[in-house]
Amino acid sequence: CAARKPFISGNWKLNPQTKEEAVQLASEIAASINPSSPDADVALFVPYVFIEAAMEAVGGKLQVGAEGVVPEMKGAFTGAVSASMLKSVGVQWTLAGHSERRVIFGETDEYINGQVLKLMEMGMSCMLCIGESESEFEQNLAGAVCAVQLKKGLAGVPKESMDRICIAYEPVWAIGTGKVATPEIAQAVHAECRRILAAMYDQETADSVRILYGGSVTPESVDVLMAQPDIDGALVGGASLDSSKFGRIINYES
Ligand code: PEP
Repeated sequence: CAARKPFISGNWKLNPQTKEEAVQLASEIAASINPSSPDADVALFVPYVFIEAAMEAVGGKLQVGAEGVVPEMKGAFTGAVSASMLKSVGVQWTLAGHSERRVIFGETDEYINGQVLKLMEMGMSCMLCIGESESEFEQNLAGAVCAVQLKKGLAGVPKESMDRICIAYEPVWAIGTGKVATPEIAQAVHAECRRILAAMYDQETADSVRILYGGSVTPESVDVLMAQPDIDGALVGGASLDSSKFGRIINYES
């Protein structure tokens, strides 16, 4: 669909260990954006402590977002970061539902839904990550798992807010493993996610939501993934830590 602007994003996780490292990587990535490459939105999801420094380093050439948020707004939640705190430093985009948050930190669909709703209430944007585990994939359950995660994650999100939601389909077996989903598999699940969104909302809404693929995307795999009709972008972990690799992914060949 021509109306869906491609969206290439990076997720640094717990990787750059110093502010200097984060600033250098962010500046190199910003400098790598080729003005004549496909017109895509670009975002980096970075650890909280580096958000402001990374924003300054990229000088508005791309979005700097947060890797997470808590559903609560204020109060006795030691260590938590709220949507209003993020908004106050200029964050628009926040990840929710990443498999590492689900598995390592025990975040449930209900908790993730709280994060999504809070971001919507604050006028912010959310990249909701969904995807099946390896055993679910082997049992042919990718579509069913995505349906549950979409329905629970987006519960209560009105159609009018769906332009501030992106979906990242990230099969858990492909994250950080080097096992990228084949373009055919990824396309099939993306198309299924769009059918689920059409049933939840309507066809027009489903056709306008950007669905990104994530899971071991590299410079070698990005072009063919981006050529699939229902793949609107990429969420990139490992390769977003290398500015030449991520630069090549941002400037994918269409
Ligand atoms: C991710 O963490 O969202 C991810 C897709 O990681 P990687 O690209 O390293 O598989």
